[in-house]
Amino acid sequence: MTEIAVVGGGLSGCLLACVLAQRGEKVVLYERRADPREGTAERGRSINLALSERGLNALRRVGLAERVLTDALPMRGRMIHPVAGDLDFQSYSADGTRAINSISRGALNNVLLDAAAKAVDIRFEHRLTGLDPGSGEMVFDTPGGPARGRAELVFGADGAGSAVRGELLRHDATAETLDFLDYGYKELTIPARDGEFALDPGALHIWPRGRSMMIALPNPDKSFTCTLFWPNSGTGAFASLSSPAAIERFFADVYPDVPPLAPDLVSDYQHNPVGLLGTVRCTSWHSGRACLIGDAAHAIVPFYGQGANCAFEDVVVLDECLRRTGGDWTATLPLFESSRRADTEAIARMALANFIEMRDKVASPLFRLGQRVEHT
Ligand code: FAD
Repeated sequence: MTEIAVVGGGLSGCLLACVLAQRGEKVVLYERRADPREGTAERGRSINLALSERGLNALRRVGLAERVLTDALPMRGRMIHPVAGDLDFQSYSADGTRAINSISRGALNNVLLDAAAKAVDIRFEHRLTGLDPGSGEMVFDTPGGPARGRAELVFGADGAGSAVRGELLRHDATAETLDFLDYGYKELTIPARDGEFALDPGALHIWPRGRSMMIALPNPDKSFTCTLFWPNSGTGAFASLSSPAAIERFFADVYPDVPPLAPDLVSDYQHNPVGLLGTVRCTSWHSGRACLIGDAAHAIVPFYGQGANCAFEDVVVLDECLRRTGGDWTATLPLFESSRRADTEAIARMALANFIEMRDKVASPLFRLGQRVEHT
């Protein structure tokens, strides 16, 4: 039995903890937040995910796929909203049966936390601030002051801004590149109308507008979470709409079918934060006793709807590597990185390319004639 610390109780960290516990490892999961199952979500950061077969395949390994799907809504295609004219439904599959699943990241995380809590020791309000990759010694910030821990192996599942990656950098064990887009995102809401969905809940809705773009995914409470993507700076960017009248005018001109469906549009726009979008690359995912996984190793822009799916798939690949090495961790970590790196680099490129497609090409007649992609 190996004593393993998983830093980060998000999507990949919880799944990893469950899979390692299933293999008989002794796992402690450290999470910087208080237990999210007992609190409320941060405003404008609800994030709906498109969960696809890759992610479901990973969740099946710990018997959670069916449970997760009870909180999800299938989307069988995308619905294009032009500035004027009819809506255009584009099926994800020729026979119309295949779907990706809309699920709130918070709901998905809570299901995973429930499963992890049954299998491992979880320490909330433990923010990793220091790590020695050689010895596996860790330091955490906690409400009661600094706390120390040690593990034979430390997984950094702590997301795009990973503190574990920061510690690997500090020990010259890796080098990173962070490529931020000049685009950000803001969440808006289309609530239920007379107790029903205001748009077709069986589709991922897209408003392709070239310079800006909006998408909307359905929620089980019959609302839609909309995400507006727009440049951060310059004219025609988030900051350029500085008054309620300017916000109303912009949406009436560019997204004319939205204002009648979104009574809190102006307030959402004014109060919800603008999130960053970027790609994280680093030269090595592991050193000594530490290894990165999920967004901590390879965060991508969200336009292919694959970041979480890919983070889940990391856990599957790691599990396969452990099987291949007979549980020898020294051999497993390099095998994990060499087996997985090319695929994560490919999806990072595809995610950037899909931004252009979603912004522009899904509305073009040429696209309608042939080039379908699997997701979003
Ligand atoms: P995270 O989910 O970020 O979890 C990291 C965890 O680590 C968090 O719980 C955090 O609190 C904790 N943590 C951070 N620092 C510390 C520390 N120092 N100490 C302890 N704990 C720490 N993916 C999809 O598959 N489909 C989609 O449709 C999709 N849409 C997206 C839309 C948007 C707008 C965005 C921003 C992302 C989207 N993603 C999507 C990507 C997806 O959210 C991420 O890829 C996924 O959450 C990565 O999981 P993770 O576990 O690696 O990291």
